[in-house]
Amino acid sequence: VVERLVVVGADAAGMSAAHQALRTAAARGRELEVLALERSGHTSYSACGIPYWVAGDVPSGDALVARTADQHRAAGIDLRLHTVVEAIDPAAGTVDLRDLSGGRTGGTGGTERVGYDHLLLATGAHPVEPAWARTADGEPVPGVHAVRSLDDGAVWLDRLTSTDRPPRTGVVVGGGYIGLEMAEAFLRRGLEVTLVTRGEVMGSLDPDLGARVREQLVAAGVTVVTGAEIDDLELDDGHSCCLAAGGRRFDADVVALGLGARPETELAAAAGLPLGDSGGLLPDDRQQLTAGPGDDWAGSIWAAGDCCESYTRLDGGRRGGIRVFVPLGTHANKQGRVAGENLAGGDARFGGVLGTAVTRFSGGGVTVEIGRTGPTSAQAAAAGYDVVSLVTESTTASGYMPEASPIAVKVLADRGTRRLLGVQLVGGPGTAKRVDLAAVAIWTSQTVDEVAGMDLAYAPPFSPVWDPVQIACRRLADRW
Ligand SMILES: Cc1cc2nc3c(=O)[nH]c(=O)nc-3n(C[C@H](O)[C@H](O)[C@H](O)COP(=O)(O)OP(=O)(O)OC[C@H]3O[C@@H](n4cnc5c(N)ncnc54)[C@H](O)[C@@H]3O)c2cc1C
Repeated sequence: VVERLVVVGADAAGMSAAHQALRTAAARGRELEVLALERSGHTSYSACGIPYWVAGDVPSGDALVARTADQHRAAGIDLRLHTVVEAIDPAAGTVDLRDLSGGRTGGTGGTERVGYDHLLLATGAHPVEPAWARTADGEPVPGVHAVRSLDDGAVWLDRLTSTDRPPRTGVVVGGGYIGLEMAEAFLRRGLEVTLVTRGEVMGSLDPDLGARVREQLVAAGVTVVTGAEIDDLELDDGHSCCLAAGGRRFDADVVALGLGARPETELAAAAGLPLGDSGGLLPDDRQQLTAGPGDDWAGSIWAAGDCCESYTRLDGGRRGGIRVFVPLGTHANKQGRVAGENLAGGDARFGGVLGTAVTRFSGGGVTVEIGRTGPTSAQAAAAGYDVVSLVTESTTASGYMPEASPIAVKVLADRGTRRLLGVQLVGGPGTAKRVDLAAVAIWTSQTVDEVAGMDLAYAPPFSPVWDPVQIACRRLADRW
């Protein structure tokens, strides 16, 4: 019997699932055909690389494509670009799709109903867009743009390199990692940059560490406005605008939106599939959707990537735990692989999320790296932990080496169990990826005492004799 898998959304999660499903099916002697449907003209590209393309570090959008459509097809996947899924009938096991290409890409140019045995939803997320970013007609305000897809990247590159009316001033709205990366791109393109953010810069850090990032942005020449929310926009002459926040006004030739993302689940919602508090789909740790009583589609629908909520690792990483929406490529790839394995008869588990993330801001003579894993102090307290924490300052290499740069490490632990809960890092080159050590320690439930005693590598160009994360854990362990 040939089973059919239909994949909706052919980027990180969808194509990871498609390839893994084919591998698992082949290993188990099952016959599986895979139809992957993608609304845009792109597949398997690194959105994460777009700010670096816009900044000028990456030569072309093509360089961000991990696998081309032809490579997917050569692996046996029937991939249809410019094809949108408009409806799902879970009870009948069908999807309705529409070819948006007008037949240009070999499609019918019309609509079609296709049956499936397994459906994988990998529809990703929308960038959050405030009302002022659109005109009264619903069109995007010229020069105001989010950054999500390769097409967005091309729009940004075009605008920033325009010789006709080169932009001079750029405002970035939102101080998270995409905001920081776009501020870097603007600065590197020679713009005067203002970053406006509702709270402290890098809200995924504790505010005291976020403040350290802000100081570096200011040192690089970025005007940083915290505690302000843009509430209005006036268009000047179609090329520049003025943003307002609580009486303050900011002129901008271009405005980058870095306000986060929300799950793209309208299709799933219209099909009656259950959604969580963040609007994301609710798969279990096998990435399978759980049918309610009376639902007759049990077992056939899977979901992965930015359209999903996930369980936090700290409380077990599975059903019954705290659910979070953490849209990152690292999870999309892993969840896609887990879904693909399971739907083809295997048994894989997604282990939950710690929110491990890194980024960098480099421009204006400043390079600051940021790493974070586990809950912030506020999140840990809200989850019921009795949090003890401490910030230490150290260097990324032995202090006498030319590569040594400052690094601040914040560690959070649980008073009762002495378990490491979270680590946040802000510092110069060599800082950010140290967070992986902390992520492994938290993942495997180590105490601060155990981390302080671990056998970690040391040589002067790479580390002080005590690794900065170990120093912080040791000092915290000595406190109680
Ligand atoms: C600027 C930027 C920088 C980033 N940097 C990082 C980083 O450094 N590290 C990190 O881990 N993550 C990063 N991310 C996040 C990462 O890119 C996403 O988590 C990842 O792309 C999610 O993959 P996905 O497959 O779930 O969704 P997406 O990549 O959003 O893909 C979903 C696809 O589904 C298609 N689709 C949706 N609905 C339909 C439909 N009805 N029919 C057909 N097709 C449909 C869409 O066209 C889209 O191509 C970044 C994201 C951005 C935007």
